[in-house]
Amino acid sequence: MTEQRGIRARFSTAPQWVAVSAAVVVVVVAAVTTALVAPGPQSGSAQAATPVVPGGQPATSASTEGQPGSSGKPPARTAKPPVVPDSIVHATEAAGPAVNITIDDGPDPVWTPKVLQVLRQHHVHATFCMIGPQAAAHPDIVRQVVAEGHRLCDHTVHHDTTMDHKPFAYQKSEIMNALQMIETASGGARVYYYRAPGGAFTPASRALAAQNGMRPLGWNVDTKDFDRPGVAAIVNTVKSEIHNGPTILFHDGGGQRAQTVAALDQTLTWLKGQGYAFSFPKVN
Ligand SMILES: [Zn+2]
Repeated sequence: MTEQRGIRARFSTAPQWVAVSAAVVVVVVAAVTTALVAPGPQSGSAQAATPVVPGGQPATSASTEGQPGSSGKPPARTAKPPVVPDSIVHATEAAGPAVNITIDDGPDPVWTPKVLQVLRQHHVHATFCMIGPQAAAHPDIVRQVVAEGHRLCDHTVHHDTTMDHKPFAYQKSEIMNALQMIETASGGARVYYYRAPGGAFTPASRALAAQNGMRPLGWNVDTKDFDRPGVAAIVNTVKSEIHNGPTILFHDGGGQRAQTVAALDQTLTWLKGQGYAFSFPKVN
């Protein structure tokens, strides 16, 4: 029976009217059900231009978070991390002579694996300050960083070194969106630190980071490796400035980082020879 004929029949006899009404109800219910169910998994992607979708629905995506590659880690944001101090940290967790190796602006598909290889050869753990969209684009590298014992740090979405002069709402989106991207890419690993690009912290952005479990992270020695001054110059900067404090800044993103890879290797050898241990920045 076609729909036309059904509608005509509706006016002929009572039983047919009931039957057609029931059919209409079924169709309406089916349509509503479809409307409710179908957009569900896609609603997250509509909200975000960047691949933050899986982390946007942690409450209902426990099964997807548990898929291969997540190493059985809990889904992102099931438990909010503890609030940490909002002052900028430079100190090491380890007592005694120790340094914090920090690696910024990645992950990068070419250079991060090379940096990881150097760290692995020296049995050194480092802190990786990642840019959100790059983490989202290379979740395999983010997971490798975590699996090899390194810690994650939020280095915002757009690496805007003037963000401290912009409205708090903008700073918040830069920090929180990157946090979600990094957490999602990592499969739910904790992001321990927030490092403002170029040190563009504000009291409000530090407080926001701290409320979300991320200790604001500074640095004491800028190796200037970003400018590619030569391997010897990078190593010499560490040697001459390590008295400033224990947190040393290198880069695995933002360009060709062959000098960084070679300089990191030599720097780690020199630091060990000087009796330094390798630590993480203090969180609490
Ligand atoms: Zn940076």
